[in-house]
Amino acid sequence: IVKLEDVHLSFGQTQVLKGIDLTINKGDAVSIIGPSGSGKSTILRCINALVTPQSGKITVAGTRVDQLTKESERIQLRKRVGIVFQQYNLFPHLTVLDNIVLAPIKILGADKTATVKLARELLEKVRLSEKADAYPGQLSGGQQQRVAIARALAMKPELVLFDEVTSALDPETVGEVLWVIRDLIRDGMTSILVTHEMRFAEEISDTVVFTENGRIVDHGSPQQIFHSTNNPRIRQFVGGLS
Ligand code: ATP
Ligand code: MG
Repeated sequence: IVKLEDVHLSFGQTQVLKGIDLTINKGDAVSIIGPSGSGKSTILRCINALVTPQSGKITVAGTRVDQLTKESERIQLRKRVGIVFQQYNLFPHLTVLDNIVLAPIKILGADKTATVKLARELLEKVRLSEKADAYPGQLSGGQQQRVAIARALAMKPELVLFDEVTSALDPETVGEVLWVIRDLIRDGMTSILVTHEMRFAEEISDTVVFTENGRIVDHGSPQQIFHSTNNPRIRQFVGGLS
């Protein structure tokens, strides 16, 4: 469902991606790990057409993302690819329910009654049914992030990208967000996660990708990357796990 082929991307003089090849099948959960600045977020931003590479091919659900020229085409793509960031960016003046139904109704033109019903189902899924009428400011960080996940799912995306969605949270609330993502992956949602939660990546991933300095240094099963790699750099990075 996602394929990157020899993707190169620079910001000004800085080469950020130096030939990324990555294939992700429908239903897969792929974790991207690696040091800060290695290009992890940039890979997600390429997949979602938030940035365009200078060279290489990117195909997402049949669309050549690197060749999109119009903003309208990029918006079309983003309807199908959900993304959840570290900062949840909920609308503070809207209730939880209204945050979730806004985009499907406004952008997809979805039926209001059906969307409200879907939103309530999603709130149940992220274990926040009782918070439908609360405002974001009344929720904990972990709860807000779960609303952000429900909001992404309300668009019925074909895949979801998660960029360090637990990094800004209190340690106590990290787990509740990871549970929700785990459920989603078990339900078969194609997911690409940039994460520093190594244990979680080990548990839920079909494939783990290790990036450094704009390249994919290695990829493989969690067992391979976390426990049987010969690469000293990866061993050092995942250190505590083995
Ligand atoms: P982190 O773990 O800190 O989030 P990352 O692996 O996600 O890091 P990226 O955000 O992809 O890294 O950034 C890779 C490199 O690209 C960094 O050196 C960063 O400074 C640079 N970079 C990212 N976005 C831009 C931008 N819009 N303009 C210029 N440089 C950028
Ligand atoms: Mg990042």
